Amino acid sequence: MSTPAPTELTDLTITAAADGMAKGDFSSEELTQAHLGAMEIAAGLNAFITPTPDLALERAKESDARRATGDAQGPMDGIPIAVKDLFCTDGVLTTAGSHILDGFKPPYESTVTTNLRDAGAVMLGKTNLDEFAMGSANVTSYYGPVKNPWKGNDGKDLVPGGSSGGSAAAVAARIALGATGTDTGGSIRQPASFSGIVGLKPTYGRCSRWGIVAFASSLDQAGPLTRSVADAAHMLGAMAGHDPKDSTSAPIPVPDFAAGLDAGVKGLKVGIPKEYTLDGMPPEIEALWTQGMDWLKDQGCECVEVSLPHTKYALPAYYIVAPAEASSNLARYDGVRYGLSLDGDSLDEMYEATRGEGFGDEVRRRVLIGTYVLSAGYYDAYYIKAQRVRTLIADDFRKVFEDVDVLLTPTAPSAAFAIGEKMDDPVAMYLNDVFTVPASMAGLPAISVPAGLDANGLPLGLHLIAKPFDEETLLRVAQSLEDAAGFTARPGATP
Ligand code: GLN
Repeated sequence: MSTPAPTELTDLTITAAADGMAKGDFSSEELTQAHLGAMEIAAGLNAFITPTPDLALERAKESDARRATGDAQGPMDGIPIAVKDLFCTDGVLTTAGSHILDGFKPPYESTVTTNLRDAGAVMLGKTNLDEFAMGSANVTSYYGPVKNPWKGNDGKDLVPGGSSGGSAAAVAARIALGATGTDTGGSIRQPASFSGIVGLKPTYGRCSRWGIVAFASSLDQAGPLTRSVADAAHMLGAMAGHDPKDSTSAPIPVPDFAAGLDAGVKGLKVGIPKEYTLDGMPPEIEALWTQGMDWLKDQGCECVEVSLPHTKYALPAYYIVAPAEASSNLARYDGVRYGLSLDGDSLDEMYEATRGEGFGDEVRRRVLIGTYVLSAGYYDAYYIKAQRVRTLIADDFRKVFEDVDVLLTPTAPSAAFAIGEKMDDPVAMYLNDVFTVPASMAGLPAISVPAGLDANGLPLGLHLIAKPFDEETLLRVAQSLEDAAGFTARPGATP
């Protein structure tokens, strides 16, 4: 059994753990020790590339010392969290799940992890991910696949979703109270749905991208994975904020995201996009979506059908824009500046040898697609056209948000699938993102809330999308879904 039995301490939410430390029931050091113990027991999940136990204990002791002198920082102080290995961490190996970053220890810390550290959070280690965050199943990592702590009825090992699969598995398996993720087209929300936890992608620009290994710069956004909506609000509050080092980070204040969580949703208008009904979608997902509407109606929302007519072009346009940006961002891995470096008789041969050996198949596929759509002769036909489609998608959302406060959809078209499935069919893999990509293309905040189980006892999420920088309404509606769903199922309890 690879999932540890939760102890009292590993089973807390961030909110409850913060209360417990404030009351003096336990220390951050005890809380951290409990999670490091869980990490060892669950090593078989392969959720971590680099555990950092010594650093964690050092930070935990510092937190306890702050608390002893009345200087504790707030709800994240002393809280053990995991960090996706796409965030650069000062002096700690940062791999992006790729062979090409072998041995790379950045001499700097990303802004988001700096913010978390300043808020007192305790990093337990760096989590596994799809190589350069490209994927939906955490099967493209150089460090091997991550196992979902949930198992299906047939006992097969399942994917935790991707690309923030290690972070999702760590939170679901009670190894960390929360984790950072990044979401370019769904990589926080889809693994949250597959792992039965909450995953929040903030508005593009809410969190700084500085020091996060770039995949597709116009889409990448950091966010929290947690076991409750309130925890997501607290963690996002610590992560977010304007950063002069990222010109796309928004110069606006960070509200107290947790303040209005219990204000209720009475009178809010919820849009149900008709284009999100897919042929062949499992009936449980349709049923859960309808259930979600009923839950919100019961709490005083009005649900109305809306139309986002360009939805069907979002995925194809994403798979032009994202690889185009990736091919340009990944040009920096040349064997000179970072990590792996192989010899060659000429400079070109050295580049070829290093990049050929250092990048996995999926990354190579994206670089090829990206270079192709940016090349002379194809640039107008593909890249410019995809950018135009992106504008139309954003316009669709702008129009419906003149009338509704949030949108409700399923998070993913399926529950977690077996490791090895869809591996030889990239398009089937890309279809995982069909519900999450449109909000990414429009830069909108969105969240996945665990809401039910499928016929095999596997978790399914509901997905909410809100207006730009309206994470407060997003979280408020998410809270009411969480209250109504009362999702208490956990990995290990499935047959
Ligand atoms: N699955 C999508 C992709 O492979 C999204 C990944 C992400 O959000 N980082 O591009």
